[in-house]
Amino acid sequence: MLFKVFPVVELIRLFQILAANRIVGPVKKGEDQHGRSLYDFGVVHDFSDLRLDYTQTIHSAKNYFLPYREDLCSFTVQDGDWHKEVDYGAYAPLVLFGLHSCDINALNKLDKVLLGGRYPNPFYGEKRANMFIVGHSCNPQPYCFCKSMGTDSALRGFDLFLTRMDDLYFAEILSSRAFHLLEQIDCREPDSSEHRRYLDEMEAKESQFVAHVDTSDLTKILDLEFQAPVWKEWGEKCLSCGTCAQVCPTCYCYGVEEHVDMVFTHARKEKQLYSCNLLDFAVVAGGHNFRPESHTRLKYRYYHKHRGFVEAFEESLCVGCGRCGQSCLAHITVPEVIASVRASK
Ligand code: SF4
Ligand code: SF4
Repeated sequence: MLFKVFPVVELIRLFQILAANRIVGPVKKGEDQHGRSLYDFGVVHDFSDLRLDYTQTIHSAKNYFLPYREDLCSFTVQDGDWHKEVDYGAYAPLVLFGLHSCDINALNKLDKVLLGGRYPNPFYGEKRANMFIVGHSCNPQPYCFCKSMGTDSALRGFDLFLTRMDDLYFAEILSSRAFHLLEQIDCREPDSSEHRRYLDEMEAKESQFVAHVDTSDLTKILDLEFQAPVWKEWGEKCLSCGTCAQVCPTCYCYGVEEHVDMVFTHARKEKQLYSCNLLDFAVVAGGHNFRPESHTRLKYRYYHKHRGFVEAFEESLCVGCGRCGQSCLAHITVPEVIASVRASK
């Protein structure tokens, strides 16, 4: 990894060079009932709309590389024969500008599932190959528990990572594209005092975390507490709305529907992101539902994130961004659920 520093005022120049591509970054979307700013990822045309001081976005950026809905293929009858068309939907390079460490680590986890297996997902892969990622430092919020999940720092999965140090940006460079990009602005090697300032910034961030999840022996505890009554208690609160999966940067489960037009000349297969909390998630052909009760569905979401994924990849599928708890109308949060399971009697 290479390091550079540049004055904060140079950031607009960096943005303008990248603006030859589509840029997606944090923008302000409004305010909540307490007057606090609400942010989300959106296409940024003007540097002044980019809000790098954002706390957390409502949704993750996954919609830009794992859309909520996309056609997997379409079929048309022509000259008495079926013709199939597949469009991966990766038309133009995309710059993700201002991702926090947790969201970069979420991408790294999605890569393992969607690109690393025997059947890589070409729809996702084509979009990922067409991306330039600029990470940005954050200020931990009261609901962030990324430190517990080991995702408060990103070591890979970005081109450039920027840490704000008053009037300077400390830049971590992981790709030749990022290196050549920085050659076009006023930047230089950091000196030893700036290395120290960067480390001090990291230490200051570490001390700001409030939320915490004890992950020690968690897979074993989840196995032991599979029948714990506390799952039913959380299930009674859960509205089975699926919001948690929609905002989560690592939820990737999906369903596929086939649509055929009325005259049988055109058909398409549509994939849509789904949530294991939705009532019909485990319904199979014949109508049987393997998880008809909300607590069984909620429990499986936790077992996928904190047990099954750990068994497969030796890391959790949760990055501790806190979005699910922030968006949940039933106020169900990961730290509270895990703590209650650990405390089961
Ligand atoms: S945990 Fe919350 S957000 Fe998720 S399905 Fe239940 S009520 Fe909805
Ligand atoms: S489960 Fe919740 S806290 Fe964990 S990554 Fe998903 S949205 Fe973030």
